[in-house]
Amino acid sequence: MLLLIQRVTLPALGILGGTFDPIHFGHLRLAQELADALGLARVRFIPTGTPPHRNLPQVSGAHRLQMVCTAIAGNPVFEADDREIRREGTSYTYDTLTELRDELGERPLCLLMGADAFTALTTWHRWQELFELAHVVIAHRPGFGLRELQAALPARLRKIYLQRLAGAPGVPRANAGSIVTREITALDISATLIRAMLARGSSPRYLAPDTVLEYIDRNHLYKDRDAR
Ligand code: ATP
Repeated sequence: MLLLIQRVTLPALGILGGTFDPIHFGHLRLAQELADALGLARVRFIPTGTPPHRNLPQVSGAHRLQMVCTAIAGNPVFEADDREIRREGTSYTYDTLTELRDELGERPLCLLMGADAFTALTTWHRWQELFELAHVVIAHRPGFGLRELQAALPARLRKIYLQRLAGAPGVPRANAGSIVTREITALDISATLIRAMLARGSSPRYLAPDTVLEYIDRNHLYKDRDAR
């Protein structure tokens, strides 16, 4: 008798880390479009505490988390996770993914990022081991197209990119280890742009949700560099 064993495919979780200083429509569209394209059960937004690669965020982790919660309210696929802002010391994605892997067992994890972030991956702590913990899903961003991505990568990363690039769309069958690329709606929005507009008193309306901009206004954030 032929015994067919059906593989149980657990729903994949997307992880979107960032400073979210503040969160804007570029982040939200990236999460929505990748969730739809890959059939992710959830996307978890994880604001970074103390980032290793860049200047300290301009406002506190508590404010950035609140803005994330406000921005994703009402979307049943989106959730927020405060583990990095609670953690002492520098926030490493490697530590976060290790914790999530322990908590979630064999569930596929998809680390979502813009092509600009992927280009800098070799500067991340234990970057080669990230592929043992999650798939990496790369969305294009204005100025960082997917066609130019391969050429923009340092040689060590390019080799891994070509080895791990998944041919088929969707979440690969394993729970980690592949690279998936995806074109998304190009939104030339950055948190840097929004902070600069707020600092000079111009309106960033329609670049981020109104509720986020109301939160910024109520709490007098980003008026100047001492807004923490
Ligand atoms: P900043 O301007 O302060 O550097 P940012 O707008 O780039 O911030 P981050 O919080 O650093 O936002 O980004 C988190 C993730 O979201 C990164 O992987 C980044 O590539 C991606 N991302 C941010 N903005 C966009 C956008 N407009 N389109 C596509 N991806 C984006």
